Amino acid sequence: MRALASLIIITLLLVTGGVSAADANMKPNIVILATGGTIAGRGESGTRASYNAGEVGVETLVGAVPQLAELARVRGEQVANVGSQDMSDAIWLQLAARVNAVLAEEDVAGVVITHGTDTIEETAYFLNLVVHSKKPVVLTAAMRPATALSADGPLNIYNAVAVAADPEAAGRGVLVVINDDIHGARGMTKTSTTDVQTFISPERGLIGTSLYGDNRYFRYPYKRHTYESTFDVAGRTALPRVDVLYMHAGVSPELVNASVASGAQGIVIAGVGNGNMNREVRAAVKQAVDAGVRVVRSTRVTRGFVGRNVETDDDALGTVAAGELKPPQARVLLQLALLEERDAASLQTLFEQY
Ligand code: GLU
Repeated sequence: MRALASLIIITLLLVTGGVSAADANMKPNIVILATGGTIAGRGESGTRASYNAGEVGVETLVGAVPQLAELARVRGEQVANVGSQDMSDAIWLQLAARVNAVLAEEDVAGVVITHGTDTIEETAYFLNLVVHSKKPVVLTAAMRPATALSADGPLNIYNAVAVAADPEAAGRGVLVVINDDIHGARGMTKTSTTDVQTFISPERGLIGTSLYGDNRYFRYPYKRHTYESTFDVAGRTALPRVDVLYMHAGVSPELVNASVASGAQGIVIAGVGNGNMNREVRAAVKQAVDAGVRVVRSTRVTRGFVGRNVETDDDALGTVAAGELKPPQARVLLQLALLEERDAASLQTLFEQY
């Protein structure tokens, strides 16, 4: 891809912030892959809410935090520069290939990825399933653009590099470090459009915290990830199309019919309550399943699990219960699962394992 050809490779000054060249040689090598987002956003002034995401390049982002030299030898690459609402399967596949390639370099200790907050939970979970390494992979982001008063990006990058350079972070799957918290990729979610404290991990809690680069860890991920994952996207240029359909009172079954007619291979129902949908949508789902479309039931509710056969008869409908995966992450898992032919029972097993 053209973006690949335009990768910017920057070797940062090693002798900054009072770190001697001899000290710097002892530091772990960390690669920062930049994809855009508010962390790379520029506004007209420090006090205006409006801004454009994905305008500041990786060299500026990293150059704004010379203290990184205390933690690591850092080099940066620009993989994309988009607001994460424009994140796509194509960028994911390109990013996964870069992360796997960079981590295969023996002298690279870990990777940091800068990203927008809007879809970071999807990218993080995608990488959690397709990166095959125990080395730390850490995504970070910011709620305030780089030009804002009290921009949160620089400290988030600092903490992210501190986690990526930390041997204790290895084997914990893909992590998201933001606002002093270390989230596991699976189950973390954005809860506020504007608050700096926007991310929560509602079911399983945090993996740990990072306070000015001082890391504490509370747990390992509970499900299969990274080096244990059998999903492989090497050489792929596209992923199966999976749609998310949002349920509400009076929702029309035509959403399901339109999705199937326009070529979706899978559907995630963002159901009400415990992954529920009305009678008409259930009938349309049954037809979709009979036509070979795989349907997973998740929920539009922030917390809790969607269990099999609670109010919706999965056995009769041929549907899969998403457990604690919310619709955006359930969609990622279904996309990867559909790279192979699988029946509803084996899909259900995957949703329990991953
Ligand atoms: N739409 C922007 C993005 O996701 C804003 C979110 C952010 O980064 O805070 O890139």
